[in-house]
Amino acid sequence: MPSTLSKIWNKAVREGDVNVFSWYKRRNRTHKLDSSLNEKNILHRPYPPWVIQVEVTNRCNLRCTNCSNSAAAAGGFTDISPEFLHGILAQLPRETDISLNGIGEPFMHKGIFELFGAVEKRGHNLSFITNGMLLDESNIRRLGDFKKLKYIGISLDGDSKELNESIRVGMRFEKVIENIIALRKALSVEIGIHFTAIRRNYKKFPGVIELARGLGVAKVTAAGLFEWNDDLKKESVSYSEFCRDVGSEESLRERYPDMQVTVVLAGRFESRARPHCIQPYNFLFIDCIGNVLPCCQQTTPVIGKNIGNLNSKNLDEVWNSAEMTAFRSSMHEGKNPACALCFLRGR
Ligand code: SF4
Repeated sequence: MPSTLSKIWNKAVREGDVNVFSWYKRRNRTHKLDSSLNEKNILHRPYPPWVIQVEVTNRCNLRCTNCSNSAAAAGGFTDISPEFLHGILAQLPRETDISLNGIGEPFMHKGIFELFGAVEKRGHNLSFITNGMLLDESNIRRLGDFKKLKYIGISLDGDSKELNESIRVGMRFEKVIENIIALRKALSVEIGIHFTAIRRNYKKFPGVIELARGLGVAKVTAAGLFEWNDDLKKESVSYSEFCRDVGSEESLRERYPDMQVTVVLAGRFESRARPHCIQPYNFLFIDCIGNVLPCCQQTTPVIGKNIGNLNSKNLDEVWNSAEMTAFRSSMHEGKNPACALCFLRGR
C-alpha cells in the first residue's frame, strides 16, 4: 500500500490525467480531498460521494455495436419515477453533483425535464451524456431554463457519416451535427464530444477532434470499451496501440493546443507502481431499478455486482458498507475482476 492515498490522488490531480480530477480542479475542490481522507483506514471515506450518476432509463433509441445496453436490458426496460429521484436527492447535500445518465438515452424518458427540474431545485450541478438524436428545437430551448446544467456530453464515434452510422446503429449523423450546432447557439453550457475508441474507428480520432473544433466544441474525450464479452474484447484498443498509431494524449494536446483532449484507454495507467482508481472513493452509480454500483464500469450483467439496493438501504449505508469496502480493497490488491476488464484500470 502506498504511504497515503492523498499522495496518489494529489499526483493524479497535478497530472490532470483523468476527467474527474480536472473537473474538481476547476471547481477548486481538491483542497477538500485531504481533509476527507481517513489515513488509518483508507478503505473508508466520509459520506457523501462527490458525484452520483443516476440512470434515468435503460431504454435507447439506438443500437450501438459497442454498447452493453441490449444485454443489460435483458431484465426489462425501465424508467425511473420523479419520486425515485426525489428519494435519492433527499439523501444528498447540494455539493454532490448529479449526472443523469446510464446505459440508456436520457431523452427516452418522457419526464426528463421534470427530473432535470428536481435536480435544479435542490441546487445540485447537473450533467448528462446523450446520443444527440432527440435534441429537437423545443428540447434545446427548454434546456436553457436549467441554470445548474453544467455539462452536456454528446457521443460521436467517427469523423464521417458512414463510420458513425455503422457503429451507432439508428443514428443520423447530420441530425446530431445540426443539434450540436443548435445547442452551441442556444446555450452557454460546456459541451464535450465522447468518442468510444474501438478497432474500427480509433485511427479517426484526430478527425473527430477537428470535427469538434469546427463545431466550436473544445472538449473531446476518447474512452475505451468495457470488455464484457469476447466480441468487445476483440474490439478493445490499448493505449499503447493508440499512441503508436494516433499519438499520445500529450502529443494530441500539442497538436491541438486550443482543444481539451483526453484519452483513457486500457493500459494507460498500468505502469504506475501501484495502480488505483478513485471512482469508488468519489462516485456511485444508481441504476434505474435502484441498484447501487461502486463505479461507472459496473453496469453490465457480466460483472454488474451491486452493493445494495435503494429499496432496502440508504445511500450513506452503502457508501462504507462491507460490500463497498471489499470492492475498494480488492481493487487495491489487484484482485478485482471488474477492474481487470475495465479500460480505467490502473487509473
Ligand atoms: S472497474 Fe475498477 S478500474 Fe474500472 S472504474 Fe470501476 S473501480 Fe475503477
